[in-house]
Amino acid sequence: MNKSFKVSKKTQEKMLKYYKDKIKDKKIPYAIFQAVDEDTTITLYESGKVLFQGKSADVDALMWQEIDGQSTVDKEKQKEVDRKYYNCSSVGSDEVGTGDYFGPIVVSATYVKKEDIPFLEELGIKDSKKLTDDIILKIAPKIVKRIPYRSLILTNTEYNQKYNTNFNMNKIKAIMHNKVLFQIMNELKPTVDYIIVDEFAHEKRYYEYIKDCPTIQRNITFMPKAEDKNLAVAAASIISRYIFIKEFDKLCDQVHLPLPKGAGPQVDELGKEVVEKYGQEKLKEIAKYNFKNTSRILETMIF
Ligand code: MG
Repeated sequence: MNKSFKVSKKTQEKMLKYYKDKIKDKKIPYAIFQAVDEDTTITLYESGKVLFQGKSADVDALMWQEIDGQSTVDKEKQKEVDRKYYNCSSVGSDEVGTGDYFGPIVVSATYVKKEDIPFLEELGIKDSKKLTDDIILKIAPKIVKRIPYRSLILTNTEYNQKYNTNFNMNKIKAIMHNKVLFQIMNELKPTVDYIIVDEFAHEKRYYEYIKDCPTIQRNITFMPKAEDKNLAVAAASIISRYIFIKEFDKLCDQVHLPLPKGAGPQVDELGKEVVEKYGQEKLKEIAKYNFKNTSRILETMIF
């Protein structure tokens, strides 16, 4: 693929410096230089025009367009697209707990009308990962009073029964997202511009995961970092987190131990205490048994 455009004098100087070791001896008519970088041939002409040739020409071209400040148009376009998904009525879903050894997986979907956007903005809604548990405990009850939602909790016992070679984490997520999305769409019959899922798998793969589900929700827009771009997804992530925290506290009460979130070394320490107090089988009720933490917890224990 060939690509060419004009660059400023300043960019030309930068290019000369950048490619100085890769410039070919051969002189090309009207060219300042011709260089070969990996599989791309770059020719800078006296007119200021630069030509990129080769399989990855577009990659090199894009880099220099950005350096030259030409991609601002694309950035504006991206902003416009982002605004479209922000300023709309939407259903969005997000999950929590997939990185935590202890505790369930929670997936929620919310229906956020365009009129609800200022209300959510005022609460300071953003991705739940960027909010502390204290803030989540404060704002989630306010959200659920006004914003319709559906949630699904997968307990550790259910997770450990399901998780096997045919069931990886993404498949579990897909099935749960599909279920809450179908539920909210069919029970509330909301008027939406978009149904948005925070992308964890490519669209094709997602529908493959759920192909045996009895009901399938279609017309989904999959979006990386959706919790930053759409308030329904952001609200769903906060509600999921809220439910997760509540369920997590119940587990701590149940085992009388201050279980930590996440999957770090502290988790292993508390995991050992759980096994000492209640035996290895208890982990199957309160933790995601397939995580590497399990082998770390068990390997140092003497039975
Ligand atoms: Mg997410």
